[in-house]
Amino acid sequence: MSANTTPVADWFCYIDGEKISSDTFHEVKSPYDNRVVGRVSLANADDAERAVAVALKGGKKMTRFERYTIIDKTRLLLMERKEKFAQLISAEAGLCIRDARYETGRAHDVLMFAAMETLKDDGQIFSCDISPNGKARKIFTQREPLTLALCITPFNHPLNQVVHKIIPAIAMGTPVILKPSEKTPLTAIALVELLYEAGLPTYMLSVLLGPTKEIAEPLVKHPQVELVSFTGSVAVGKHIAATAGYKKVILELGGNDPLIVLEDADMNLAVTLAAEGSFKNSGQRCTAVKRILVQDCIYDAFVEKLVVKAAEYKSGDPADESTIVGTVIDEASAIYLEAVTKEAVALGAKVAFGGKRTGALLEPTVISNVPNHARMVVQESFGPLAPVIKFSTIEEAIAISNSTAFGLSSGVVTNNMAHAIRFVKELRMGTVNINEVPGYRIESSPFGGVKDSGLGIKEGVIEAMKCFSYVKTYSLPW
Ligand code: NAP
Repeated sequence: MSANTTPVADWFCYIDGEKISSDTFHEVKSPYDNRVVGRVSLANADDAERAVAVALKGGKKMTRFERYTIIDKTRLLLMERKEKFAQLISAEAGLCIRDARYETGRAHDVLMFAAMETLKDDGQIFSCDISPNGKARKIFTQREPLTLALCITPFNHPLNQVVHKIIPAIAMGTPVILKPSEKTPLTAIALVELLYEAGLPTYMLSVLLGPTKEIAEPLVKHPQVELVSFTGSVAVGKHIAATAGYKKVILELGGNDPLIVLEDADMNLAVTLAAEGSFKNSGQRCTAVKRILVQDCIYDAFVEKLVVKAAEYKSGDPADESTIVGTVIDEASAIYLEAVTKEAVALGAKVAFGGKRTGALLEPTVISNVPNHARMVVQESFGPLAPVIKFSTIEEAIAISNSTAFGLSSGVVTNNMAHAIRFVKELRMGTVNINEVPGYRIESSPFGGVKDSGLGIKEGVIEAMKCFSYVKTYSLPW
C-alpha cells in the first residue's frame, strides 16, 4: 500500500455559492488503505433551512440558451479536469482508476445530452375543433420548472449518480439542494464547484452534508420541497416514500439483475458479459449482474470458461493502472459479501474462483451450483460476486428471474429471436437487453425499475427533465 504525505484537504458544503464553515468535520477515507482523502466541514439544520430560503427567493431566470451554455461549459471544464476527477473518484470510492475514468466519460455524455435537450422545445399543440363538442380554440403545452428539488445520491457512482440528478434539474431551470453520500461527497462537491465556475446562478444549487436527522430527513419532509429524487437502497427509499408527504418522489433503488444464458448462446460473448457485468465497478452497480442463470446442458462448460475469464480481472490497489477490480466501499460491505458466500457454500454451492478478502478488497469471485434460495441471490449482493445458477427450461429461467423482490434490469444471451422476444415480453423488469449486460444503456434513454427497484418512473436525461418540471397548458381562441 502506498505511503501518502499530502496534507489532508478541507472541503466545504455550499449554499448560494458560499462555503459553509463549521467546527464539525467528516473525514472521507480511502476504502483501500484508510488514508484520509479529505474532510468536509458539516452543515446543520439551520443551514438546511437557509438553503431552502435561498432557492425559493430565486434570482435571474435563465433562458434556454443560458442553460445550454452553462451545462456545455461544465462539460468542457470536466473534460479539462477529467483525470483529477477520476483520481478523486478512485481515492474516495476505492474504484479502480479504469472504472473511475470510464465514469467521467459517462458524466460527459450526461452533460452533452442535457445541453442538447435544453435547446429543444417539447411543447404540444391541440386543435380543439376536432369533435362535435369542439370549439375554435387551440390548447398549447409548455414545461415549467419546479420551485425546489432535493436530490439524494448513493456512493457507487460518485460523479455519474450526481450529474444524472442535478443536471436534468438545472436543464429545466429547477433549483436543487444536493445531499450526496457521506461515503463519497468530495466528487459531488467538486462538481458543484465546476457548475458555479461555469456560471450557474448560485441560487440554483446548494450542496449539504450533515447528520441525517438535521439535513436529509427534514428536507425530505419539507413542505416547500416539491420533488425528492432519491437513488439508493430499498430500505431508505421506502422510508422516504413513507415520510415525504405531499410531493413528487422519484425512487431508483436496488437491483438483483439476472444474466440468462441459453444453450444456443455465443459462449465467448456470454462469458465476457458475465464477467464484465459482475466485476466492473467492483460489482457495485444497481444494474450489475447479480445472478447468472445458465441452461443445464452448457452449465459446466460455462463455469469452466468463466473461471478462466475471472482470472484476468486483477484486483488490488485502485490507483494501480493494472488493477481491474478495486475495493468495495468499505470493509463491512466486503465482510457481508464473504458471509453470504459462506452461507451459499453451506447450502451446497462451490467457490470456483477467488473469494479471498483483505480489508475492503474482495477478489472477483465465481460461485457455482448456487441454490436459487441462497441469500446471495435473493437479496442484493453489492460486490464482485458471480453466482451461477442452473436451469433447464425457459419457463424455469423466467420464473427464477421474476422470483425476487426486484425488477430493475436483465440481460439474455441467445441467438434465437423467438426466445429473445419471449424474455422481453415475460420478464417483469424495467429493462431487458438481448446479448448485452443488464446495465447497458445510453445516458439519454429511459432508465428505471419496477417492484422494489422503483416506482416505474424513469430517469435518463430526457425522462428526468420531465420529472423536474410540470406541464402547463394554456388555450387561446384561434
Ligand atoms: P443508501 O444507504 O440508501 O444511501 C443513499 C443516500 O441516502 C445517501 O446519500 C444517504 O446518506 C442517504 N440517506 C440515508 N438515510 C437517509 C434517510 N433516512 N433519509 C434520507 N436520506 C438518507 O444507499 P448506498 O449504500 O449509498 O447505495 C447503494 C444502493 O443504491 C444499492 O442498493 C444500489 O442498488 C442502489 N442504487 C440504485 C440505482 C438505481 O438507479 N436503481 C443506482 C445506483 C445505486 P448518508 O450517506 O449520509 O447516509
